[in-house]
Amino acid sequence: MEILKVQNLCKTYGKGDNQVQALKDVSFTIEKGTFCAIVGESGSGKSTLLNCIGALDTPTSGAIYLDGQDLFSMKEQKRTVFRRQNIGFVFQSFQLITELTVEQNLIFPLLLDYQKPDPHKVDEILEVLGLTERRRHLPGQLSGGQQQRAAIGRALITRPTLILADEPTGNLDSKSSQDVMDLLLKASRLYQQTILMITHNINLTASVDRVLSVTDGILSDLGGVRQ
Ligand code: ADP
Ligand code: ADP
Repeated sequence: MEILKVQNLCKTYGKGDNQVQALKDVSFTIEKGTFCAIVGESGSGKSTLLNCIGALDTPTSGAIYLDGQDLFSMKEQKRTVFRRQNIGFVFQSFQLITELTVEQNLIFPLLLDYQKPDPHKVDEILEVLGLTERRRHLPGQLSGGQQQRAAIGRALITRPTLILADEPTGNLDSKSSQDVMDLLLKASRLYQQTILMITHNINLTASVDRVLSVTDGILSDLGGVRQ
């Protein structure tokens, strides 16, 4: 089942002589449950692409369909709600709420959506994250790898249509990076979670389903690695 469709996406920043064409006619589709990596040099357009898909940035032209819904034909208010209900974000810098415990961070998206957390599901996800013993710790009491695993749990807990991860291992050592990759892989298998992840680290693409490469705003499909 096709879960994401990006169609003739163009993004231009600035005007006149300062114009930068960050994305040039990018098209691709992603099937449900795919763990897809986006690779490319710094400045090639990866973040712009991810930000457009996450509706954090507006394309200049083209369309993005998530679960059949045209993101940019919605009114802004509807798009904001749709984003909260359908997209989980993971950032390089974790972005956990420092005053809340691991467990409180984890259930935060449910509270935003007026859902009551199911204690069994919370226990289950803490187990998957390997953070059961750390549930009452504050982010500052955890290693970087543990913080990122908590942030991934927070993105997973609503079972979003899509998880967008921008350099999730960018601040981690190689062992913690591998732990984070293993967790994302586990989520994609266990929950059929669709994941789109930007990475600089080509070594980390060995276990993903598909690799897209961006060069100077142009996307090429490097196809399946693991298929
Ligand atoms: P990457 O994520 O691959 O490093 P980006 O998507 O951040 O690449 O950037 C792609 C191009 O768009 C670069 O040339 C960058 O300078 C430019 N760019 C990104 N964001 C902006 C912005 N807000 N204003 C102007 N130019 C931008
Ligand atoms: P991980 O592999 O999950 O990143 P580490 O092997 O880096 O974990 O850390 C081992 C233990 O040391 C962790 O359980 C954590 O509690 C503690 N620790 C590591 N880094 C820090 C830190 N910056 N501040 C507090 N505790 C830390």
